[in-house]
Amino acid sequence: NKTIILNSRPVGKPQLSDFKIVDEEMPHIKDGEILLKTKFVSVDPYLRGRMSDAKSYVPPFELQKAMTSGIVAEVMESQNDKFKVGDFLSGMLPWREFQTSTGENLLKIDDQLAPLSNYLGVLGMTGLTAYFGLTEIGKPKKGETLVVSGAAGAVGSIVGQIGKILGCRVIGIAGTDEKVELLKSEFGFDEAINYNTTKDMTKAIAEVCPDGVDVYYDNVGGSISDGVHANINRLGRIVVCGAISIYNETKIPQGPRVEHFLIRKSALMQGFVVSNYIDKLPEGMKQLSQWLAEGKLNSTETIVEGFENIPQAFLDLFEGKNTGKMIVKI
Ligand code: NDP
Repeated sequence: NKTIILNSRPVGKPQLSDFKIVDEEMPHIKDGEILLKTKFVSVDPYLRGRMSDAKSYVPPFELQKAMTSGIVAEVMESQNDKFKVGDFLSGMLPWREFQTSTGENLLKIDDQLAPLSNYLGVLGMTGLTAYFGLTEIGKPKKGETLVVSGAAGAVGSIVGQIGKILGCRVIGIAGTDEKVELLKSEFGFDEAINYNTTKDMTKAIAEVCPDGVDVYYDNVGGSISDGVHANINRLGRIVVCGAISIYNETKIPQGPRVEHFLIRKSALMQGFVVSNYIDKLPEGMKQLSQWLAEGKLNSTETIVEGFENIPQAFLDLFEGKNTGKMIVKI
């Protein structure tokens, strides 16, 4: 029964050696428990933060203990009336091939409504992060200009599509020409910019946003964001969802100077974590499921196969190897 543990705390960019695959005994269920087989595992940039021992909104992973993330699992045995063999569940679980559980904090999911992996992407934390960050903080209005960084990734690709549904002009920023093309052809973005081949981001944003930027949904931070901030409109909203460009920095780089965009433009800049909206999660799920069923959301995923490839799939997030949600199929 393979398990992946945190072997060492990364300094800078995480390495494969920070993880270790160990073989544990096959677990047996007791009364009230279920035996789960892992089917899909979500790898996410925020796990990088939990690999360090710095204080954050979620506790750090413990050394030599199993890593944890969003997982979809199948019930293989049950001594719990609430679950039957063949049920699919999703929730935060350790990176183990098989495990026992009481079922607490796990959600029953329906593979007839959507593919199981979607419950880790568009119908999971990813979709909800996109939905609540954009609607609760970004508050886009019809006809406004929305810029999204990390646009071809899991959260960003959903944000851009929701922006289009809500009637915005949507511009995406991503790391390759292929992603730029895909944003326009598959995800319905109006324009897209490759930050790796753009020398002057301020100028590039100004060119594709002649009316300025009303809402900036930021997944990456750093110098990409400086270029967007410089184009923010009066009363613009900056949604600070993530800052992947600095997650592996050992020294926090100099941040933006707020005078030119926050004060002069009376703009709003707010960070958030998706769990702030826990009370509204059913509303978010309902809306995302409806848009998905109506064919209004493209739920592209990058699926990597094999339990032992979970660490590499995680590392690949920092190299931009994924389009849409990065998921490991077991
Ligand atoms: P993604 O699917 O977007 O994967 C990461 C992507 O980031 C890569 O594909 C890559 O795309 C881009 N990237 C990697 N390194 C850099 C860099 N140095 N500079 C710019 N872009 C980079 O991940 P998620 O959608 O899961 O997460 C997106 C962001 O949202 C993250 O910052 C994450 O931490 C945050 N988040 C926040 C939550 C919250 O509650 N606040 C919840 C979930 C996620 P490219 O090829 O374009 O470089």
